[in-house]
Amino acid sequence: MDTGHQHIVILGAGTGGTLTANRLRSRLPEHRATITVVDQDDQHVYQPGLLFVPFGLADPLDIVKPRHRQLHRGINYLQQAVDRVETGDNTVHLADGSTLHYDVLIVATGAVLLPGETEGLTGPGWNERVFTFYDLDGATRLAEALESFEGGELVVNVVDLPIKCPVAPLEFCFLADWFFTERGRRDDVKITYVTPLDGAFTKPTASTRLSSMLADKGIELVTEFNTGTVHGDTDEGHPRIESWDERTVDFDLAVVIPLHGGAPFVGRSPGLGDDLDFVTVDQQTLQSSAAPNVFAIGDATSVPASKAGSVTHFEGEVLVDNVVAFLEGHELRALFDGHANCFIETGFDKAMLIDFNYDTEPLPGHFPGKIGAPLLAESKLNHLGKLMFQWFYWHVLLPGRDIPGLGSAMPTAGKESS
Ligand SMILES: Cc1cc2nc3c(=O)[nH]c(=O)nc-3n(C[C@H](O)[C@H](O)[C@H](O)COP(=O)(O)OP(=O)(O)OC[C@H]3O[C@@H](n4cnc5c(N)ncnc54)[C@H](O)[C@@H]3O)c2cc1C
Repeated sequence: MDTGHQHIVILGAGTGGTLTANRLRSRLPEHRATITVVDQDDQHVYQPGLLFVPFGLADPLDIVKPRHRQLHRGINYLQQAVDRVETGDNTVHLADGSTLHYDVLIVATGAVLLPGETEGLTGPGWNERVFTFYDLDGATRLAEALESFEGGELVVNVVDLPIKCPVAPLEFCFLADWFFTERGRRDDVKITYVTPLDGAFTKPTASTRLSSMLADKGIELVTEFNTGTVHGDTDEGHPRIESWDERTVDFDLAVVIPLHGGAPFVGRSPGLGDDLDFVTVDQQTLQSSAAPNVFAIGDATSVPASKAGSVTHFEGEVLVDNVVAFLEGHELRALFDGHANCFIETGFDKAMLIDFNYDTEPLPGHFPGKIGAPLLAESKLNHLGKLMFQWFYWHVLLPGRDIPGLGSAMPTAGKESS
């Protein structure tokens, strides 16, 4: 690779695009590389905060900041939608017809919600008795619906995987249990969690633990349910979700996590993505299979890891090293191991931590260090960790800071021996 001045273009200024740009800027002086970040809007939503909005535990205004302000000095910000990428001639085509040339491209355009792909989901009853909390508008509307829900069947339904933060729907169930208990209405609300999986979660140890927690809290679990149609119209009998094999679950209030896909421009970019428009990359180096000077990070990738901010952060450490190695003509390092961790809010001011990678679940250890709770154990400390994470996100994770002693900016279990 030529070691002259390089043009690095990063598509997406969400979690992955922002932390990558900031880390790269601190590694590469401005005379060596121009860094340009492109995003279609200037509203950076702290997505983990969406879980708390429906329960009145977060104000929608408090979880949004301007994207451009999260980028360090010396990084160009361009507010434009990407139309497509032509990896054959190193060009990004933007929606206004202009183009951007790159020497290295990093795709960080996340995952999009595809509610229109499920029959009836956005039809009658949408945003009246059928909601999602996976975007700011939906989470805000759901807050009003929960506050006025006097009783009946509350169904939380994951249509299909992959989804962002696969534990968030379970956290929603636990918080709903807490919310209605606090308001003295729990006996009047039946909560049912409906999932296409054969258990509460993808990873077996966590799944067993989470299933028994659902049972303890009186939350019904319906598994292997592949939602085909949502009937939200009260004129057509009781509102219900219906699976492809014609099972039904009635609801009075449905909270649906729609099908996810990659950004649509990926599908318009020859060779860049898979059938769901996720960018195909080597799962350990994060280099695209379309071209060696293209990389991807975060929810945009096809890697078999959770679509989570923690994963995006751990990927960022490997990705930035590999982009610098690529620019310097060195071999890439196959170091991303699928590491994911997340505090799971379990209600009543408690949370627990899960921590796993591609091969091992759970990773051994306690968090933080030896004084913390073992993995998969509920504690108030974990709940505080979950709440503090918002501060951490804006001030440590996005700026790309390392915490001395932790080695990375996210909690990492399995560090007991250090
Ligand atoms: C309800 C909820 C709760 C969550 N809770 C947690 C949690 O507790 N812990 C955790 O680790 N993770 C959590 N996550 C997941 C986490 O927020 C995401 O995994 C993470 O933000 C992914 O970062 P990203 O950079 O890949 O995508 P994003 O941050 O979504 O950024 C993608 C960017 O690409 C831009 N973009 C897309 N298409 C185009 C285009 N055509 N042109 C220009 N720009 C484009 C978008 O505008 C966006 O800014 C949660 C997510 C949700 C929805």
